[in-house]
Amino acid sequence: MPKNFLIVGGGIAGHFIAFHLKQAGHNITLIDNGKNRSSRVAAGLINPIVFRRMAKSWRIDELLEYALTFYDEIEKQTNTTIIKDINIRRLFSSEQECNLWKQKELETNYLAYINSLENADKVYDKTKNQFGSGRLKQAYHVDAISLFNAFQKAIWVDGELVEEEFNYSDLNPLELKYKDTYFDGIIFCEGKDIKNNPLFQEINVECTKGELMTIHHNYLPKDESVNRKCFVIPLGNNTFKVGATYVWHTDNDTPTEKGQMELCEMIKYISDEPFEILNHTAGVRPTTYDRRPFCGEHKSYTNIYCFNGLGAKGYLLAPLLAKELKDHILLNTDLNPEVSLYRNSKS
Ligand SMILES: Cc1cc2nc3c(=O)[nH]c(=O)nc-3n(C[C@H](O)[C@H](O)[C@H](O)COP(=O)(O)OP(=O)(O)OC[C@H]3O[C@@H](n4cnc5c(N)ncnc54)[C@H](O)[C@@H]3O)c2cc1C
Repeated sequence: MPKNFLIVGGGIAGHFIAFHLKQAGHNITLIDNGKNRSSRVAAGLINPIVFRRMAKSWRIDELLEYALTFYDEIEKQTNTTIIKDINIRRLFSSEQECNLWKQKELETNYLAYINSLENADKVYDKTKNQFGSGRLKQAYHVDAISLFNAFQKAIWVDGELVEEEFNYSDLNPLELKYKDTYFDGIIFCEGKDIKNNPLFQEINVECTKGELMTIHHNYLPKDESVNRKCFVIPLGNNTFKVGATYVWHTDNDTPTEKGQMELCEMIKYISDEPFEILNHTAGVRPTTYDRRPFCGEHKSYTNIYCFNGLGAKGYLLAPLLAKELKDHILLNTDLNPEVSLYRNSKS
């Protein structure tokens, strides 16, 4: 018997849980206020390595395997190209970082994600390359705009997507009733705006602003994404996406002159050649102190859930976490304890 679910928030968290519940035969109503400033702004990179620590990303093997299947399924259902392989080249910031890469190269559980250093990486001259560089395996680029267009055109049917503000005072959480309609479950996916949700005041989602630019540059490599201080993604016709800044505790998503200057400084670690700025955007990542997302049921209200805290890696995390949340809702399977809603609550 199909159940009726209400989902609040139409970023990737809301869209992906909605998709999984719909695929399982249930009815969904997704309310979004159209103010999205994270999922649609995101660069959409899927990078299996955290360069800061030169370590594998959390649960990378299972998250990546599922994410590829998921995006492939959306591509097939919508006849759209959403995800592409991308070569990511890390330009080392020091001798130590280069040595750390050489150590990881010898570890079997890194074989799937990093290439052994070759002389060509050492003498690579398409950008600055003071300490040498290393190339990743299995990195991807999701085109966020194509993804949302695909959902809009080919996945949602009339009535499923409602563009309006969700008004918390119209919710009766005990009866699972919103305005005049009863639901079997309600899932909150408001990203940074969870702070407005009276039911989840204990959930500690931080706001981390990020700014991005699109530039025209005649000298950056057109066939791979380079990374040092910032990432540069080739988009074709000598245009590149450059990002992103990190400003903690900032809820404001307006692009700033300071952010633009910071990005311009970052690019100098990659190239000194001149470039033209074509576009400049900003968004706010819903982040967490321990860099783990939040996923689960409210501690007092049955069948009310929260899916948030996707941080800087939403495009990698959200597909599998949405499936796991769907299984938890429908089959009562356990969620990974690391994503528990109340693990580090504010009170
Ligand atoms: C500059 C930048 C670069 C990034 N780059 C990458 C990247 O390369 N790779 C990667 O994996 N991730 C990246 N991210 C992170 C990624 O964007 C986030 O992890 C992800 O988008 C979070 O998705 P979400 O659905 O939780 O939140 P959001 O995308 O913010 O969605 C929440 C939605 O809820 C809606 N909403 C909130 N309150 C209400 C209400 N009361 N009523 C109705 N609607 C409401 C909002 O308008 C919004 O549409 C980047 C983020 C930024 C800002």
